[in-house]
Amino acid sequence: MTTSPDVLIIGGGPAGSTIGTRLARNGHTVVLLEKDEHPRFHIGESLLPMNLPILERLGVLGQMKQIAVVKRGADFTYGDNPLVYRTYNFDRALGNSPTHAFEVKRETFDHMLFENCRQAGVETHQNHKVLKVELDASGVHRVLSEGRDGKQNTWTPRFVVDASGRNAFLAGANGWKRKNLRHASAAMFGHFKGIERRPGKNAGNISIYWFPHGWLWMIPLQDDVMSIGAVCWPDYLKRRRGDTEAFFWETLALCPAAKNRISHAQAVSPIRVTGNYSYRANRSWGNGYLLIGDAFAFIDPVFSSGVYLAMNSAEGGIPIVEHWLNDEKQAFRSACRRFERRTEKGLRAYSWFIYRFTSPAMRNLFKRPRNFVQVEQAVISMLSGDVFGNRSVHLRLALFRIIYGVSWLRNLKASYAARRRRLENATLTFSDRSDAA
Ligand SMILES: Cc1cc2nc3c(=O)[nH]c(=O)nc-3n(C[C@H](O)[C@H](O)[C@H](O)COP(=O)(O)OP(=O)(O)OC[C@H]3O[C@@H](n4cnc5c(N)ncnc54)[C@H](O)[C@@H]3O)c2cc1C
Repeated sequence: MTTSPDVLIIGGGPAGSTIGTRLARNGHTVVLLEKDEHPRFHIGESLLPMNLPILERLGVLGQMKQIAVVKRGADFTYGDNPLVYRTYNFDRALGNSPTHAFEVKRETFDHMLFENCRQAGVETHQNHKVLKVELDASGVHRVLSEGRDGKQNTWTPRFVVDASGRNAFLAGANGWKRKNLRHASAAMFGHFKGIERRPGKNAGNISIYWFPHGWLWMIPLQDDVMSIGAVCWPDYLKRRRGDTEAFFWETLALCPAAKNRISHAQAVSPIRVTGNYSYRANRSWGNGYLLIGDAFAFIDPVFSSGVYLAMNSAEGGIPIVEHWLNDEKQAFRSACRRFERRTEKGLRAYSWFIYRFTSPAMRNLFKRPRNFVQVEQAVISMLSGDVFGNRSVHLRLALFRIIYGVSWLRNLKASYAARRRRLENATLTFSDRSDAA
């Protein structure tokens, strides 16, 4: 055991494994502590095209073909008729984003990334939970961890990366975590067989359905498995009494458009529930530490942005860690501020759409998209994850916001009611979690 590594990473999900691999390859001594053991279940199965360059840099893109389903786009069903849906294929995006993405069973994907990290030279410890971190402003922190056998270890790294996902270790322990006061949702989900896929080259596409209490996803996975989830307002999930599975089916029945696809569904996993999950920390860095991925912020998963944003922030963290280790304090602070701005940009781009996704105005725009000056293609770029650098996408998304505003006013009464429900739900707490230890 290297008790005084350059870097200690809390958590071996996509964010932790990404930054670990890259730092080890750059010659740093890295320890990664993961409280569970891979392969382990995790939700978050639909990736974005912009994940592909990151996977390539990690050297695992070739392996994806064995473990993933190819996703060429997303379809949205907005009414009760199952045959009336709109497909947005990634090959129509502006710019150079890849024309497909992948869908994965996270136990396989996360395991692959974790193994890749170990092979890059990271000292990985599974079944090792971080219990306490004493941050030291001068630079040598003390981290206490406990193995499954109850044995405790103390580590004194020069830099701590918090990649602990929605456990948000540092933000939780230090009172930095802030609930999102504009949006809250909760979800029920499981794996099923016997679900019809979309025809032809769209067989791997994710399907999204609106229903009165939120939205549903259908994500095709390998072995004929379909992941189905219902993302609901907390006021609806609070009505659940007794059996979660029965409540899940009752919920799906509220979406007639999804009914024919699920009529022969057989569950191949338990139905899991996860509570209110939109939050962010009020800081992402400090002397000798950094928060990446969900450990810093979490937004609703409707645009499948979580894994991409997590891996993107992991890559963005590399120069920060290296400036600190090289004792370049000024460069460290500048890199942190750039990281902050970039993180903010990504979260803002998605949050704007997320807050409005269930409003009738947004539903109408997804139903009848007009590619006026390529605005629809800019929305596809957003769906692809191209939200950071592309100026032409940003300009067109700004125009989309104006179009949305006009549509909102034209549906004033219904739009206002949808907004009120969202804001009322943001004040509710539904904290059940059966998806995590
Ligand atoms: C209902 C739902 C649906 C979603 N759907 C999608 C989707 O379709 N597409 C998508 O991209 N994203 C989706 N997401 C989001 C996605 O799951 C996350 O954004 C992504 O997993 C974040 O990666 P991460 O590495 O930051 O955290 P995680 O993947 O959560 O990894 C964190 C790791 O840290 C470990 N850990 C936690 N605490 C400790 C500790 N104290 N000590 C040691 N280890 C610790 C955990 O065991 C875990 O392995 C969804 C999320 C939810 C809730």
